[in-house]
Amino acid sequence: EELYGVRRWGAGYFSIGDNGNIQIAPNHRLPDVTIDMQEVVDEIIAEGIQFPAVIRFHDILRSQVEILNETFADTIEKADYQGRYTGVFPIKVNQMREVVEEIMDAGEPYDYGLEAGSKPELMAVLAYNDNPNALTVLNGYKDEDYLTLALLGRQLGRKMIIVIEKYSELEMLIPLAKKLGVEPMIGLRSKMMVRSLGKWASSSGDGAKFGLSITEILNIIERLKQEDMLHCAKLLHFHIGSQLSDIRKIKEAVSEAARLYAKLVQLGVPLEYLDIGGGLGIDYDGTSSTTDSSRNYSTEEYVADVVYGVKQICDLEKVAHPNLVSESGRAITAHHSCVVTNIVGEIKNTGKQFDTSASEGEHIIVTNMRELTTANDLHPQERYNDAAGFKENAYEAFKLGILSLEEIAKIDTMYWQILSEIQKSLDHDSFVFQELEKLDDMLASQYLCNFSIFQSAADTWAIGQVLPIVPISRLDEKPEVRCSIVDITCDSDGKLRKYIEGTELSDNIPMHALHKDQPYHVGLFLTGAYQDVMGDMHNLFGRLTEVHVYCHDDEPGDFYIEEVVPGTAAEKVLETMQYNTDYMAKTVKKSIDRLVRKGQIAPREGVKWTDYYEKCLAGSTYLKV
Ligand code: PLP
Repeated sequence: EELYGVRRWGAGYFSIGDNGNIQIAPNHRLPDVTIDMQEVVDEIIAEGIQFPAVIRFHDILRSQVEILNETFADTIEKADYQGRYTGVFPIKVNQMREVVEEIMDAGEPYDYGLEAGSKPELMAVLAYNDNPNALTVLNGYKDEDYLTLALLGRQLGRKMIIVIEKYSELEMLIPLAKKLGVEPMIGLRSKMMVRSLGKWASSSGDGAKFGLSITEILNIIERLKQEDMLHCAKLLHFHIGSQLSDIRKIKEAVSEAARLYAKLVQLGVPLEYLDIGGGLGIDYDGTSSTTDSSRNYSTEEYVADVVYGVKQICDLEKVAHPNLVSESGRAITAHHSCVVTNIVGEIKNTGKQFDTSASEGEHIIVTNMRELTTANDLHPQERYNDAAGFKENAYEAFKLGILSLEEIAKIDTMYWQILSEIQKSLDHDSFVFQELEKLDDMLASQYLCNFSIFQSAADTWAIGQVLPIVPISRLDEKPEVRCSIVDITCDSDGKLRKYIEGTELSDNIPMHALHKDQPYHVGLFLTGAYQDVMGDMHNLFGRLTEVHVYCHDDEPGDFYIEEVVPGTAAEKVLETMQYNTDYMAKTVKKSIDRLVRKGQIAPREGVKWTDYYEKCLAGSTYLKV
């Protein structure tokens, strides 16, 4: 079994090299050409860039756009399907300008478009999708400004599709379109009855937040007929949730939607596009199963089920095959970025260094605990019970003033020493008492990692999304330390501890023992979808420094850092919280000047302190190590 299941979640992009370093094959057309991730890390260090950093592999982004578009094109050809695929990238999944630009550039040969779900996103897609053959799909709740901007897009000759999420949007759109004399392209979002599985299951069914019931769709058609606008209805849309883990739910949704599409066309609605929304999943945990962090199908299977599923129903209903649209976001962006950072320390209960030798007149509890340290022949469960009991008694005695601080330190040291010995003596393959099963967890170290989970892995904190966390090097060495990864926020929630081993979710993560003076870099992978952009300002850490990596076309295996986008400086995060950092710097300077005037510090020293404060305001929010 390969360490950390890298190949299983790596989707062909990530593997472990013979030198024990993570290798990346960013171009799907050249699967044997790899970049050594440690070399990327070394170059980042050489350029004086501080960790944590988001590393973006733009070639992976391009590969994902190509794979999705080409899989659809190939399947359409094989199936003799009459429509074409014109997908859109939903920018909410990663709105970073460089990401959107790269996707548009890679998608141009396929007329790949964009999707927006809010007014500011609409403003972005209006500027970034000027391909007249590519779609711009507009979802989300809309006001007059939203609709007017969409009509501006139509004026500019773009295929802007206004997806009606609720009836009242149509009543707003009709007079507006007439007033401006612009013909809209209208989409209808259907509320699907099929229920998906996983974290986003509530996106379908009667209680879904978005979408129209069949009754509402029929009413809309009537209304469009009255206004002589039925020809504007171009697209039928559905979305049953993100990260769909079970292919059967996708098949069901496709047949429900294809049937609805066909019946609407038979009613005389001149639809041309069927939009299957997002949902194409990612195998974050490498289990290829229906866990919330995985999927039980491949991209090829997904595409085939969509193409053949729609074709079959349309053929049965004698309706022309629609052009197919999908709004895959996660599948396009998840692999292309990762967060690389350093472990800055270890917090552990074992290995405490306090002299536990007997002292005269020590309390009997201390003596009892010492005897337990050598009681190797005692049954492990009994030894554990005694140790736990002595420790509890000791703290009670301390509270009553009976035990001294030194005695408590001895008790603690011996307690953890005994627990480690019990753990080592256990044969995990045979029956172990339930309480002893907790030992691994109790004895696990905590590796302090220079990043914020709230900023860089929001879904892990919020909904338990598993993301692979793997050391960048030393992967030819078995990781022997069981630990949880804790971030530098002052919140106990800031912890990663779930990791897939084989097919089981374990409660702690294997890592290597830390060596003094040797940096230990770890990567949090598959963070390119949602995690990159959803992070919050908890503890005011702000955005990370970004490093954009490209492959050299002429020199296989070589790479270059094309751009470095500095992380948010402390003063910038403070300003978003309404602080005036000039005022802050002046106030601190005044306080320092006062000390100088009083002669409590030398003027030269005062200037140094003032400069230092200002330098920190302009500096990074993360630990400088
Ligand atoms: N389209 C719509 C309407 C969505 O709500 C979403 C996200 O949930 C997406 C597309 C993107 O989905 P995914 O990232 O699963 O491809």
